[in-house]
Amino acid sequence: MSQIESLNFLEAGTAAEVAEQWGTPVFVYNETTLAGQAEKALAFDAPYGLTVRYAMKANPNRFIINALARRGIAIDASSGFEASRAIQAGVNPQDILLTGQELPKNLESLVEQGILFNACSLRQLHEYGEKFPGTNVSVRINPGLGSGHSNRTNVGGPSSSFGIWHEYTDQVLAVAKEHSLTINRMHTHIGSGSDPEVWTRVAEMSLEQTKHFPDVEVLNLGGGFKIARMQDEIETNLGTIGPVVASALEKFYQQTGRQLKLEIEPGTFLVANAGSLVTTIHDIVDTGEEGYTFLKIDSGMTEVMRPSLYGAQHPIVVVNNSPEEHKKYVVVGHCCESGDLLTPYPSDPEVVAERLLQKADVGDLLVVEGVGAYCAYMSAQNYNSFPLRPEVMRTCAGELIEICRRETLPEMLQLETGSD
Ligand SMILES: *Cc1c(COP(=O)(O)O)cnc(C)c1O
Repeated sequence: MSQIESLNFLEAGTAAEVAEQWGTPVFVYNETTLAGQAEKALAFDAPYGLTVRYAMKANPNRFIINALARRGIAIDASSGFEASRAIQAGVNPQDILLTGQELPKNLESLVEQGILFNACSLRQLHEYGEKFPGTNVSVRINPGLGSGHSNRTNVGGPSSSFGIWHEYTDQVLAVAKEHSLTINRMHTHIGSGSDPEVWTRVAEMSLEQTKHFPDVEVLNLGGGFKIARMQDEIETNLGTIGPVVASALEKFYQQTGRQLKLEIEPGTFLVANAGSLVTTIHDIVDTGEEGYTFLKIDSGMTEVMRPSLYGAQHPIVVVNNSPEEHKKYVVVGHCCESGDLLTPYPSDPEVVAERLLQKADVGDLLVVEGVGAYCAYMSAQNYNSFPLRPEVMRTCAGELIEICRRETLPEMLQLETGSD
């Protein structure tokens, strides 16, 4: 990493103001960024209609859901609990598609409320069919191809358990027939990627599948649109992916006379760069001349686990008044856990890497950027008994509003019931 990263949407003053008012660590989200990304997603090329579903597992806070829902974005829920959470946030159940690894225990009640169900295995299809014979259902197919940025984010191909293997069409049709189900949606989600070639192949493979399912009216290609967190990364240009998918849909229409509606399910794309984490440097240590200098922050895997999990790279910005002085640091979190590392080697969480940053002092703020997706709600929450962090939204009008307050120790302990 040679380039110094700079603040994304926060200014140094706002970061200090947020830290002053809410303490650190604190997440700040920018509604203007959410609105801009929503607009780009809604402009995706789709000749016969488009639904954009927000993959809410990226960040299920209801203020985020509603900031997107207000702009015409529907929901992809990954569990029954997420579906209920979206309904409680005010989302119309008909706008929620449930695509989960595990069937919810309250599937009946959710479906009766109106949510749409996407069967991700033959067993799920069968169980759904037993409960709701004669209804419409969606199926998730593993098209045999994946494109995630690491093994842990790859959700297609033979090493992935997600969806029904593409060679089992006959079984899918048989289960559907047994329960008089109408398969009206074909779903494939194969993980993060920005290569138009890959999208063309997935679209074509999915459409090939769709030929076996005469009642399918909707093609859902999932999410996985890559965004640029670091300066040297490039955001997926939806303007180049859209047309290749659109032309595959048009070709399908010419061949079959069927006009399919398109659905996409971005998570990362909508929210990742809409979030910043403001932390404080509370200690600086080094391991001698041959070693490293470590910045210790009052956050870490309790808020941001992607670096420890995948070796993911997030921009890191030291906020102080010495922009001219630079120094290489390793940034570590506050957990007693050697894996609690903010600067791993790219794609290798096992290896420590140095990052060139503004020269730092104890007490300086340190902002981790690109943390709107898969951070605040995908972390080692409460590990070392650190309380859940607050979240703040900067609205389009520039106002800072609290959308989640900091947890207290009694709140953390209140689920420990009984007496000893
Ligand atoms: C997680 C998920 C998404 C979103 O993935 P991103 O990489 O965040 O865009 C979309 N669809 C399904 C079914 C998912 O599980």
